[in-house]
Amino acid sequence: MAGKRDYYEVLGVGRNASDNELKTAYRKLALKYHPDRNPGDTAAEESFKEAAEAYEVLRDAQKRQIYDQFGHQGLEGSGFSGFGGFDDIFSSFGDIFEDFFGFGGQRGGRSSGRRGADLRYDMTINFMEAAFGVETTIDIDKNAVCTNCDGQGTEPGTHPETCPSCRGAGQVGRSQGFFTIRTTCPHCRGAGRVITHPCRKCHGSGQVKAHKTVSVKIPAGVDNNSRLRLSGEGEGGTQGAPSGDLYVFLHVSPHEFFRREENDIICQVPISFIQAILGDEITVPTLNGEKRLEIPRGTQFGDVFRFRGEGIPSLRSGRRGDQIIQVTIKTPTNLNKKQETLLKDFAKLEEAKLGKRLKNMLKGAAAKAAH
Ligand SMILES: [Zn+2]
Ligand SMILES: [Zn+2]
Repeated sequence: MAGKRDYYEVLGVGRNASDNELKTAYRKLALKYHPDRNPGDTAAEESFKEAAEAYEVLRDAQKRQIYDQFGHQGLEGSGFSGFGGFDDIFSSFGDIFEDFFGFGGQRGGRSSGRRGADLRYDMTINFMEAAFGVETTIDIDKNAVCTNCDGQGTEPGTHPETCPSCRGAGQVGRSQGFFTIRTTCPHCRGAGRVITHPCRKCHGSGQVKAHKTVSVKIPAGVDNNSRLRLSGEGEGGTQGAPSGDLYVFLHVSPHEFFRREENDIICQVPISFIQAILGDEITVPTLNGEKRLEIPRGTQFGDVFRFRGEGIPSLRSGRRGDQIIQVTIKTPTNLNKKQETLLKDFAKLEEAKLGKRLKNMLKGAAAKAAH
């Protein structure tokens, strides 16, 4: 390729230029000749390409060495043939252009992408799934980044052009008496650029409707109204901006037997009045299967027993709460004759006991009064 200018000359640096000097020099040229700033200017386009090629070679230590020793012909021998077009330049220098032009949108007129919207998904899980965690999948419909244009909205191989109305400023001025009123450019809606060849798949929006199956890992110990954030699973951003997040709101359906209070679980166990009086050993369901519980003699209605560490694991520490067992006492109904007779006899004995106690109490009171 005859007629190619010396790369150092192109960038305007000395042969000993450091990486930083190269970068600074290239940055200056890239900004000056950037196609956004010089729409339709073929000379600028050539200079832009020339600078990109020079920088591409000199920033690479190996290519630079070959070039230093053998010049342009040496590079051709090594397979480097410059850039085909703008696409090549942008893909090769993606990181640098971000750095140069600030996709945050500081530079007036350049459109900056919008972060994708967050999504909400409401999910109902059962009590045991909340206690022990569960892995599941959910299906969501959302606006995703168009894969055909990478969310840029332009047909691959084309680039947005500087808006002819505002010349890239994103604003237009209108004189009104002494004032000039600046308003958002109606042609490009403030983006400063217009898409002349919209992407065929997304019609320029950069987004397409998509159906996605997302796997969700619900940790043990979540509670009603717990919220999970799945980073980046929300709607796609525009023009390379990040995607939003997906929030999964959990609803825990109640359990027929257990009730939750923080990390403790509470249950009510009915026992017969005989068991309450005489004591017994009973079987109580726990989250991990059945467990024996000793009911002591003389257990009262509402007495509470506790299985330590049989509750729900803490989301943070993993330490499990307790199971609290509240005893209720069933009053028997539909007694047969014999049971009734026995109970009446029992009642008489109780009355006798009570009568004796009452007598003793009265005696005690009388004695106290005599003093
Ligand atoms: Zn597209
Ligand atoms: Zn405009």
